[in-house]
Amino acid sequence: MSAAKLAALIEASERAVVFTGAGISTESGIPDFRSPGGVWSKMKPIMFQDFVASADKRREAWTRAFNGTAGWTGRSPNAGHDAVARLVAAGKVSAVITQNVDNLHQDSGIPDERVIELHGNASYATCLDCGLRHELHHLKPAFVERGEIPACRACGSIVKTATISFGQSMPEGPMARAEEETLSCDLFIVLGSSLVVYPAAGFPLLAKRNGARLVIVNREPTEQDPYADLVLNGEIGPLLSSIVP
Ligand code: NAD
Ligand code: ZN
Repeated sequence: MSAAKLAALIEASERAVVFTGAGISTESGIPDFRSPGGVWSKMKPIMFQDFVASADKRREAWTRAFNGTAGWTGRSPNAGHDAVARLVAAGKVSAVITQNVDNLHQDSGIPDERVIELHGNASYATCLDCGLRHELHHLKPAFVERGEIPACRACGSIVKTATISFGQSMPEGPMARAEEETLSCDLFIVLGSSLVVYPAAGFPLLAKRNGARLVIVNREPTEQDPYADLVLNGEIGPLLSSIVP
C-alpha cells in the first residue's frame, strides 16, 4: 500500500531531501504549533523588535527559555528522527531542512553540516552584535539567582536564544543552502509540517516545479497535498520505522 510506495520512491531516488516541521517532534513530547494545546495557544510570541527594544521583554523571553514554558529543549529524538538519521547515514538523504529549533536531528546523530535550520536553534544563544555563541547552562544561574539578563561576555551586547523570532529576517546562509539542496534532489519528503509558514513552505513547491517527486507525510491534510506525488496521513515514527529498517 502507500507506505510501500514511499519505500519504493526512496529506493529509486539517487538524492533525497527531508523537510521537517514540528510534527516530527511531537512523539518526543514537544507540542507543535497548530494542534490543540500547541505552543501559541499557551503564550504569545515575542517579536524580535520588542526583544531588542525592551528589557522587560528580554526578561520575559529568558524566563520562558529557562523555565521550559516553550518546552522544546531537554527532549530526546524519537523513532522518526532515528529513521531519518538512518537514511542520511545510508547516503540516501543529502540534507535535512528543518523548521524545528529543538536540535533533535543533530541529537539523533546526523552531522551538523547535513542539518539546515531555517528557524535557528533554541538549545544555545548568540550575541546579536558579535555573534559569539553562549551556552544556556552558563547563562542560567545568574538569571535565575540574581535576575541578571544575559549579556555578551565579549562585547556586552544583547544575547538571545539562537532562534529566528517573528520580525527577524530569515538566515541567509541556511536559506541559500536549503534552496541549493532543494534544486539538487530528485525526491523531497515533507515530514510533519502544516506547510503554512512561508518562506519555509516554499521549498516543497520549488522541488516539485524543478522535477523532483514530492511526498507529504502528515497527520492531517495540508494545502500542498494536491501537488504531491504521494500523501501519507499517519504518525511519522511508526510509519517511517516500518519502511526504513
Ligand atoms: P505546525 O505546528 O504548523 O504543523 C505541524 C504538523 O504536524 C501539523 O499539521 C500536525 O497535524 C502534524 N503532526 C503533528 N504530530 C505528528 C505526527 N506524530 N505524525 C505526523 N504528523 C504530525 O508546525 P510547522 O509546520 O513546523 O510550522 C510552525 C513553526 O513551528 C515552525 O516555524 C517551527 O519553527 C516552529 N516550532 C518548532 C518546534 C520544534 O522545534 N520542535 C515546535 C513547535 C513549533
Ligand atoms: Zn558580543
